[in-house]
Amino acid sequence: MSRDVIVLGAGSAGLAAAVTAAREGAQVTLLERHGYAGGMGTASLVHTFCGLYRMGEGPPVMANPGFPAEMAGRMLASTGDGGPVKMGRVWVLRQHPVDFVRIADELLRESGIEVIYHAEAFKAGREGGLWAVDYACRGQIRRLEGKTVVDASGDAVLAGLLDGASYQAEPAKLQRPAYVFGVQGVIEGEQGLALAGRIVDGIRRGVLSQAALGLHFRASGRAGELFGTIDLSGAEEGDYDPLDGACLSRLEEVGRSVAGAAVDFLKGEAGGWGGAYISHWPVRAGVRESRRWQGRYRLTGDEVLGGVRHADDIALAAWPLEFRETNRGPKLRYPDGDRAAGIPLGCLQPVAPEGIFTAGRCISCDHDAQASVRVMGTCFATGQAAGLAAVLAARGEPVEGLPARLEARFGPLE
Ligand SMILES: Cc1cc2nc3c(=O)[nH]c(=O)nc-3n(C[C@H](O)[C@H](O)[C@H](O)COP(=O)(O)OP(=O)(O)OC[C@H]3O[C@@H](n4cnc5c(N)ncnc54)[C@H](O)[C@@H]3O)c2cc1C
Repeated sequence: MSRDVIVLGAGSAGLAAAVTAAREGAQVTLLERHGYAGGMGTASLVHTFCGLYRMGEGPPVMANPGFPAEMAGRMLASTGDGGPVKMGRVWVLRQHPVDFVRIADELLRESGIEVIYHAEAFKAGREGGLWAVDYACRGQIRRLEGKTVVDASGDAVLAGLLDGASYQAEPAKLQRPAYVFGVQGVIEGEQGLALAGRIVDGIRRGVLSQAALGLHFRASGRAGELFGTIDLSGAEEGDYDPLDGACLSRLEEVGRSVAGAAVDFLKGEAGGWGGAYISHWPVRAGVRESRRWQGRYRLTGDEVLGGVRHADDIALAAWPLEFRETNRGPKLRYPDGDRAAGIPLGCLQPVAPEGIFTAGRCISCDHDAQASVRVMGTCFATGQAAGLAAVLAARGEPVEGLPARLEARFGPLE
C-alpha cells in the first residue's frame, strides 16, 4: 500500500509534520525507532520548550501560529504550570517529557496517523514513481511506499542513506552533546549556587571527576524531582562525532558514571538530598548538532542576527544564537532589536532529489543559524510547514504556494 506522506522521525518536527499533513486529509505514516514520540524532548529528557515566544520586552506572544501554539497550550494544560517564564530576554516554557509523550499519543490518535514504532529506517530509494523506505524491526525488514517523505530524523538520515548533499560542522566546532537524567527524592534540597559549590568542592577533593563541572540541576515542576544536565565535551577519547556509534557509546558511559557519582556524593553532603536517587536515564544522550541537508536555500547566522525576512518565509526563528561549542555553558548572541528572522521555504527543500522535505534541527542552514533554529519551538514550526509542503507535493500542487497556504491555514507570520 502506498501512502501520501512518510514522515521519518517522530521528534518535535516529525510530530508536527505528521499531524499537520494528516489534518489536511493526507494518508500519513510516521516511522520512529523509539517506542514513543518527542525525540530529544522525551527520549533525551530535554525539558524546556525554547523558541515558542517572541524575544524582547513585553508579555509572552507566540512567535509562530498553528502547531507551536497548540503544543504550548496542551503542555500548560497537562503540567498545570502557570505559564512561560522569562529568562533574560526570552520566554521559555517548562515541559515534562512524560506529559510530552502523552500529548503526542493524543495528537497522533486524534489525527488518524499510522505510527510504526521500534522501526529504524536503513535504506531509501525511488521505485515506480514512489519513495520506498526500508526499515528494520527486530530482525524483520519491511518496506513503506509513499509519494513524499519528510526527513525529520534530526540527523538528516535520509541524506545519509541517499547520499544526498549535506553538511556537518568540523568536530571542534560542533555544538557539544549533553546527558540529561532524572532525580527524585530531593526535599527542599540545596540548589543553584550552593549546589554548584558542593560539586566544585567534590572535584577539588577528588571525589568527582572534572566532567562534573558541566553538571547543573533544574526543578521539573513535580514534587521532589529534578533534572540533571551534564554538558559533555564529546571528545573524551578522540574527536567528537555524533554519527559514530563508538563515540555515542562513550557519551552514554561517561554521562551515567558522572551522574551516578554526583548523586551519591550530594546525598551525603547537600541539605535535603539525603533521600535522592536517580529515577530515570535517558533513552539516548542528547545530540545538539550533526548532519544537515543542503537545501535550495541555506539560512545563515548573519541573517538570524539581522532579523532578516524573505518573501517565502514559512516560519520564524525566535531564539538567539545559542552556542554550545564547549562544555562550559552557553554563549548567546541576540538578533538586532530582538527581531525574529524568517526561515524560507528553500531551507526545507533539499537541492535534490524532488519529493523530499526536511524539518527540525537538520534543515538547511549554517552552523551559526542552527544554533538558533534547533530549539523545539522552531522545530514545531518547520515541522508544520514541511507537513503541509509534503501534502501539496503529494497532490501535485506547486509547493511555491506554501507560504500563502500556511498563512491562510494558521495566520500570518508577524
Ligand atoms: C542537551 C540538550 C539540551 C537542549 N535544550 C533545549 C531546550 O532547553 N529547549 C529547546 O527547545 N531545545 C533544546 N535542545 C534542542 C532540541 O531538543 C532539539 O534540537 C530538538 O528536539 C530536535 O528536534 P527534531 O525533531 O529535529 O529531532 P529529534 O528530536 O532528534 O527527533 C528525531 C527523531 O527521529 C528518530 N530517528 C532518527 N533516525 C531514525 C531512523 N533511521 N529510523 C527511525 N527513526 C529515526 C529519532 O529516534 C528521533 O525520535 C536541546 C538539545 C540537547 C541535546
